[in-house]
Amino acid sequence: MLKGKVAVVTGSTSGIGLAIARALAGAGAGVMLNGFGDAADIEAERKRIETEFGVAALYSPADMSKADEIAAMIATAENELGAVDILVNNAGIQFVSPIEEFPLEKWNQILAINLSAAFHAIRAAVPGMKARKWGRIINTASAHALVASPFKSAYVAAKHGIAGLTKTAALETAAHGITVNAICPGYVWTPLVEKQIPDTMAARGLTRDEVIKTVLLAAQPTKEFVTVEEVAALALYLAGDMARSITGAVISIDGGWTAA
Ligand code: NAD
Repeated sequence: MLKGKVAVVTGSTSGIGLAIARALAGAGAGVMLNGFGDAADIEAERKRIETEFGVAALYSPADMSKADEIAAMIATAENELGAVDILVNNAGIQFVSPIEEFPLEKWNQILAINLSAAFHAIRAAVPGMKARKWGRIINTASAHALVASPFKSAYVAAKHGIAGLTKTAALETAAHGITVNAICPGYVWTPLVEKQIPDTMAARGLTRDEVIKTVLLAAQPTKEFVTVEEVAALALYLAGDMARSITGAVISIDGGWTAA
């Protein structure tokens, strides 16, 4: 389905991004992995993708908080893999704190990685997509692109921003065979969710079990975590030709959370 296409997936050394990269590679796309982590683990995953799916896989260590490194990552993918046909802006971090105590550097970091990085990558990738008259841009937003939760001011602001960026980029590229969409997962069981449990316990004075049941899954009517494979399947659909008329959409995959 995606044979001959090339995908760049930011934040794909873990969680949702890794599942999306594997799904796109499984459909035949060459992939550029990106993100932090243990170098040997990343190299093992890169090789596994090449051998399991028979596609080219590269790894970029670009820091998504740095505009020049993002532009260089897109240029490397174009030069070494031949193009960037599919761009998945997925890298993201979280920090949980009451707004009056929210550290300034955390606000700046979250806005840079969760919002500005997508702008920089789209800006760098769109000229090539326009030249080839085909492109797919998929932004991993969140249910927090649509609704808020307390203690997540930077994250919610950045994710609402991603929804606006998605719609704007979609309008600008619609006549060029390019679609731009945002996926809005509810709670997906990944290291990002795991890591926020201690801070939420402290911020709300709850036990681990109480955080999972009364905070994380409280708003998710299915009372189950979304899986990374389900999110990846939606991204794969959006990357395909049958999704060419879906653009500017902010699509929920949240077990009913934002229906309430
Ligand atoms: P994760 O922590 O498993 O993965 C995050 C990825 O981003 C990792 O590969 C990490 O190395 C990378 N990353 C972080 N900072 C980076 C930087 N400065 N430069 C490059 N890469 C960087 O988290 P996840 O849950 O898979 O999250 C992926 C995306 O999904 C994020 O945008 C997150 O906001 C969003 N999301 C997650 C959930 C959830 O419940 N897990 C729900 C909705 C949206």
